[in-house]
Amino acid sequence: MIAIIGAGPAGLMAAQVLSDAGYAPTVFDAMPSAGRKFLQAGRGGLNLTHAEDFTLFCSRYFEAQSFLQPALDSFTPNDMTLWAQRLGFETFVGSSGKVYPLEKKAAPLLRAWLLQLKANHTQFKMKHRLVAWSKDIWQFQTPDGLKDYSFDAVILALGGASWPRLGSTGAWTKILKDNGLSISPLKPANMGFNVTFSKVFKEKFSGTPLKNVELSFTDINGNTQSKLGELLVSEYGVQGSLIYTHSKLLREQIEKKSPFTVYLDLFPHRSEGKLKQQLSASRGKQSLSAFWKRLGLEGVKASLLREVLEKELLIQPELVAKTLKKFPLTLESFRPIEEAISTAGGLAFENLDQGLMLRDFPNVFCAGEMLDWEAPTGGYLLTGVMGQGKQAALGLLKLLQKEE
Ligand SMILES: Cc1cc2nc3c(=O)[nH]c(=O)nc-3n(C[C@H](O)[C@H](O)[C@H](O)COP(=O)(O)OP(=O)(O)OC[C@H]3O[C@@H](n4cnc5c(N)ncnc54)[C@H](O)[C@@H]3O)c2cc1C
Repeated sequence: MIAIIGAGPAGLMAAQVLSDAGYAPTVFDAMPSAGRKFLQAGRGGLNLTHAEDFTLFCSRYFEAQSFLQPALDSFTPNDMTLWAQRLGFETFVGSSGKVYPLEKKAAPLLRAWLLQLKANHTQFKMKHRLVAWSKDIWQFQTPDGLKDYSFDAVILALGGASWPRLGSTGAWTKILKDNGLSISPLKPANMGFNVTFSKVFKEKFSGTPLKNVELSFTDINGNTQSKLGELLVSEYGVQGSLIYTHSKLLREQIEKKSPFTVYLDLFPHRSEGKLKQQLSASRGKQSLSAFWKRLGLEGVKASLLREVLEKELLIQPELVAKTLKKFPLTLESFRPIEEAISTAGGLAFENLDQGLMLRDFPNVFCAGEMLDWEAPTGGYLLTGVMGQGKQAALGLLKLLQKEE
């Protein structure tokens, strides 16, 4: 029996490649149904991949790029679109280059995928939680108690440790460590950061987007990072795409020394001089708020100013202009892995060969978020995990063909 353990997008893609090749793999998963995190990903709009230049696309995987390149080459953003089309779903490219299925939903895609897999002889054993592995014995906790299985070949696709209620708990790290494999500590990726805002500010602006701002900071290698985008004020601090893009570099800075201050340009399209000039104009009998509003300084941006400047300083045009262009946002710490969108760390690449097979355990392959890599949001995660699922299955096929 060929087993795939983990019915997330990595495991399902492995099943697709194997069943397309005429095999009938069995997919095991701890949860009662497959692809729960994939479904959750669809709640905020299922971002399948990204339409940017492929070289730039591949650079989003940081230092893991070279190891992941074969997976990215075997399942490119274009292949993702073709995959969705094969299931009957057209995709579109959003204004930021992100690629979505037309309805942006995951549920219809997942339903069609599972139907296709089942029709193609993939079998599913749900509520089977892998709890131990020793030599050829794979032990599962099932509704009928513990069950031992032995397999001809196994693909592990057990996911990371974010959103554990969806099935990926990271408990596999112990099982793999017990077999002598090296694991980098699991850490949150694409997560929010705690910021000490006043209670009033948090109550008023939690859930409010801060659009069109530029975030800048110096990373641990001394490089200046700067990017335009949107972040979201939340009950604990900040989250959102602009923060997630930099979550790796920000996490590294905070691990080195916390708190860590980044800077926001709240008016990236207006120079400091222009702002100063506008703020220096006579406001007559207008209140300060009404005057600011005329300049476009209102809502969350105006309140941010009040968070860092004493009342009597708010009438100093030079200081206000300076603060608007370089607003200090002090990140105290990052949010826990349970809340993060994805996971950094995992099974170290040194355990694996180029076909994603464990060097010490021929016939056992690993793929997906459980490996030691990370990428920002933007469709890089799903493309990466599905590419690795495909690569592991191709590696296994090669092995099976050699054995035949
Ligand atoms: C809120 C949210 C939104 C997201 N949005 C996007 C998006 O728009 N675009 C994007 O590219 N990515 C997105 N992601 C990330 C993406 O969903 C994941 O990167 C992807 O699901 C990881 O795939 P995987 O197959 O490696 O792991 P998972 O999807 O986590 O699947 C692993 C499977 O293994 C099973 N498992 C774990 N341990 C065991 C065990 N011991 N025994 C048996 N089974 C086990 C789990 O139950 C699970 O089904 C989002 C994630 C979240 C949380």
